[in-house]
Amino acid sequence: MAQVTEQQIIDALKEVQDPDRGADVVSLGMIGGIIIKDGNVGFAIEVDAERGQQLEPLRKQAEKIVAELPGVLSVSAVLTADRASSDAAAGGSPGAAAGGSPGGSPGPARQQTGPQRDASMGPPGVKHIVAIASGKGGVGKSTTAVNIALGLVAKGLRVGMLDADIYGPSQPRLLGIKGKLETSDSDTMEPLESNGLKVMSIGFLVPEDTPMIWRGPMVTSALQQMLREIEWGELDIMVVDMPPGTGDAQLTMAQQVPLAGAVIVSTPQDIALLDARKGLNMFRKVDVPVLGFIENMSYYVCPKCGDRADIFGHGGAKTEAEKLETEFLGEIPLDIAIRETSDQGRPIVISQPDSVHAAAYMEIANRIWEKLTVDSETSTRSAPKIVVQ
Ligand code: ADP
Repeated sequence: MAQVTEQQIIDALKEVQDPDRGADVVSLGMIGGIIIKDGNVGFAIEVDAERGQQLEPLRKQAEKIVAELPGVLSVSAVLTADRASSDAAAGGSPGAAAGGSPGGSPGPARQQTGPQRDASMGPPGVKHIVAIASGKGGVGKSTTAVNIALGLVAKGLRVGMLDADIYGPSQPRLLGIKGKLETSDSDTMEPLESNGLKVMSIGFLVPEDTPMIWRGPMVTSALQQMLREIEWGELDIMVVDMPPGTGDAQLTMAQQVPLAGAVIVSTPQDIALLDARKGLNMFRKVDVPVLGFIENMSYYVCPKCGDRADIFGHGGAKTEAEKLETEFLGEIPLDIAIRETSDQGRPIVISQPDSVHAAAYMEIANRIWEKLTVDSETSTRSAPKIVVQ
């Protein structure tokens, strides 16, 4: 069967009327980021943040209309609540309307000015959402995230873990979760539980072998599903394990999740710090307060002789944090016990709670909680708005 074309999709979407604005979504410039891959279609509908909830029927109608086109196997339409202004995308070529740059990447992310996040986009009973991010992969972001989350549980808090790492969701493995998500009779989904943590992973929604080009738009709707359609219940804090890097997918997430703050994990190498700085700038760009840096694999203590070796150099994150006027939250050594316990699905904070490493994670967890609850009215909220041209 012939591949559906972008023009066919646009023509079909002209049937969809914005109920409030008296015109169709195409002429209002609301459609963007169209992706077509082997009959799978994804696109973004840009709306003002405050209308996000009420426009769900419009989103569904748009999906349905496109799904009826010949050659379409699946459709994923996402509402992106990041319109900078109502005329921002109007009249432009539809393919480029929602991309971050003209003719650039197809993701629905858009650079924007100031906070557009809408707290109603988050799960209703969740008090604080914190992203654990890194400028690049392999720095130990997921390991750090899970140990911090478990540290928060150990404090007696009600904690959720949302694994949004599209490139390699690892929380199910780190937490030794083998179960599958079940839809209950009432059509709602409950997160899985492990060691007192409520866990939801994008790995449960997006099959691992899905090609990356298609994962992007799917991820946006999967993220919405994880935030809104999962019965998280009452949580003091939700930890989000972000995908590494600072691309469109990450920016979209930073915009779509009503984050109270972000923590950046880095190794001491300069190159990683350079990436970490990009991570920091990404969050600042979308007005998410950066709570601080963590230096992971900071140093190595020889288990035989007790000598300490600064394999990657040491203290880079601390110096960098000072330069960038953010907090240095702590350092975690490179230690085989951290890797082994993670591999076994028993992170060190629960398997060796009295170890110095568990104490280091606990201390960072405490500081994060303190920053969110005690300092939040002062330092973290005063992050400057950075206008991106
Ligand atoms: P990321 O999420 O940044 O890709 P992971 O958390 O998956 O990184 O960690 C990558 C690898 O490094 C894993 O094998 C993990 O067990 C290991 N690792 C992470 N932090 C440490 C540490 N402090 N000491 C030893 N190994 C670590």
